[in-house]
Amino acid sequence: MAIAKRTFDVVVVGAGGSGMRAALQLAEAGLKVAVLSKVFPTRSHTVAAQGGIAASLGNINEDNWHWHMYDTVKGSDYLGDQDAIEFMCRAAPEVVYELEHYGMPFDRLESGKIYQRPFGGHMQDYGKVPVQRACAAADRTGHALLHTLYQQNVKANTNFFVEWMALDLVRDQDGDVLGVTAMEIETGEVMMFHARATLLATGGAGRIFQSSTNAFINTGDGLGMAARAGIPLEDMEFFQFHPTGVYGAGVLITEGVRGEGGYLLNKHGERFMEKYAPNAKDLASRDVVSRAMTIEIKEGRGCGEHGDHIMLKLDHLGDDVIKQRLPGIREIALKFAHVDPAKAPIPVVPTAHYMMGGIPTNYRGQVVAPCKTAPEEVVQGLYAVGECACVSVHGGNRLGCNSLLDLLVFGREAGRQIIKDLQRNPHHKPLPADAATRPLERLARLENQKNGERVGEVGAQMRQVMQTHCGVFRFPDLLVAGVAQIKQVAARVAQTEIQDKSRVFNTARVEALELDNLIEVAQATMIAAQARQESRGAHARDDFTARDDVNWLKHSLYFRENYRLDYKPVRLKPLTVDSFPLKARVY
Ligand SMILES: Cc1cc2nc3c(=O)[nH]c(=O)nc-3n(C[C@H](O)[C@H](O)[C@H](O)COP(=O)(O)OP(=O)(O)OC[C@H]3O[C@@H](n4cnc5c(N)ncnc54)[C@H](O)[C@@H]3O)c2cc1C
Repeated sequence: MAIAKRTFDVVVVGAGGSGMRAALQLAEAGLKVAVLSKVFPTRSHTVAAQGGIAASLGNINEDNWHWHMYDTVKGSDYLGDQDAIEFMCRAAPEVVYELEHYGMPFDRLESGKIYQRPFGGHMQDYGKVPVQRACAAADRTGHALLHTLYQQNVKANTNFFVEWMALDLVRDQDGDVLGVTAMEIETGEVMMFHARATLLATGGAGRIFQSSTNAFINTGDGLGMAARAGIPLEDMEFFQFHPTGVYGAGVLITEGVRGEGGYLLNKHGERFMEKYAPNAKDLASRDVVSRAMTIEIKEGRGCGEHGDHIMLKLDHLGDDVIKQRLPGIREIALKFAHVDPAKAPIPVVPTAHYMMGGIPTNYRGQVVAPCKTAPEEVVQGLYAVGECACVSVHGGNRLGCNSLLDLLVFGREAGRQIIKDLQRNPHHKPLPADAATRPLERLARLENQKNGERVGEVGAQMRQVMQTHCGVFRFPDLLVAGVAQIKQVAARVAQTEIQDKSRVFNTARVEALELDNLIEVAQATMIAAQARQESRGAHARDDFTARDDVNWLKHSLYFRENYRLDYKPVRLKPLTVDSFPLKARVY
């Protein structure tokens, strides 16, 4: 079937912070850029980021990028690639000042400088005492960031395709990527976006879990597209559980609350983090705090009628601090927990939050994958940035505020790299004859399936399997059963049928297509988790409780074909400084 085609220099899939930062670089260079988004750009999940952007500006305490780099390497439990981490931490102040000049409304100190708050794992002098490093716009930093970048893109003439869903990558016989196929959600029309460079910036996949801080649109579409095109997914076993999701609702309460002086209590009113992290206490790294909370609950010290949550106390901060620095949190507590945080503590539980793994890239944003002749080769024409990419700067566990930073640094860098690559590559390669076959077949299957599975039911089963079998702590028997069950769910996904075949906004179609992507991410996560026999960062095994650097200091690569796993070494050598030697990780 012939479908309409549009031609661009670059097609960016995703209008979150990473996609828009890259698009801005490209549009300002005069390239013809299309940005596709399932939702209006400023509704991307970046808008929900609360706490801040990490950068060693040193506006309040002495700070420098070496300390930031050390914290990030340690936070990653040594799985992060140190070249990329150095690159990111060094560039941090510059990208923050750049944003300031784009008009981002940061909070200010009396002196007029950008306000910075403490955050988990941000320390001075190689891990000694907490430092104020998170650059914040109240507790709505992502909102301010996304609106700033959107306005700059409008000014730079970026072409937005709003409410368009990318379906699949177009890859030719040489393995080069030549664009994407996409569906206009309103009409269901499928179109070809032919491009000299394709950038995936589709964000996270928190929706593989039942309880998640993520938006409903965070369905791992970029990962599904990459996996179907034969590209492996890296370090998928590492999924961050944020300590403070509102009990029962999952909505996030930023770590900035603890940065401003809030702390966690068990049912005896004990400040238990003192026991688990004597130095950093409530501001230890997220994996550490989430595990401590889970242990408190498991050992019978949880709060409430069912003893199944923890309390976050901030009433001692006073009404003024809460209203000025944490206005969004106040609203969330009132709406979702029905408490006024100036009067009573907020009930919280660890909640799925951030995917450390993703599409493997180098620190230029180029996608790298093994090929027949080399363990790692750049896939021509394909780039990935933001939460869908694995650079890897977050390794086994991401530090708070390092994601917004990652979007800005690597969004800009991918933009620069694409500009260079396109100078060498001035012409569009011809599209292969079967460029649209895969997505059209997927759509046809959904239409024609008889007596098929219901998308809602299968999705619910997937989320339940992930939540039970692949949570904060991972048990060997549950993992083995989890792998079998998630494969069964995948078989059901292959039989889904759209019940509502009307073409009114195509919601049912979109949900079915999203489930195709979610199940790829869920399988990769479960299978890689079952295989990794150690505890590192967010991956905490009940049967292998220690980190094992002899056997497991390596990145996993999951290939969709035959569920194959492979591994590649961690890049321990930074760009210009000495590497940080492996140490036990205590806070
Ligand atoms: C509640 C919450 C609070 C957070 N707070 C912080 C914080 O304070 N500091 C910090 O550093 N990090 C924070 N994070 C993490 C951080 O916000 C995210 O990792 C980051 O914003 C992701 O940005 P992104 O550009 O990768 O993707 P997103 O902002 O998620 O955007 C993804 C884009 O891709 C589009 N898209 C997806 N699939 C398709 C498709 N098939 N076709 C077309 N478009 C598609 C979407 O429409 C969207 O535009 C927080 C995360 C959450 C959930």
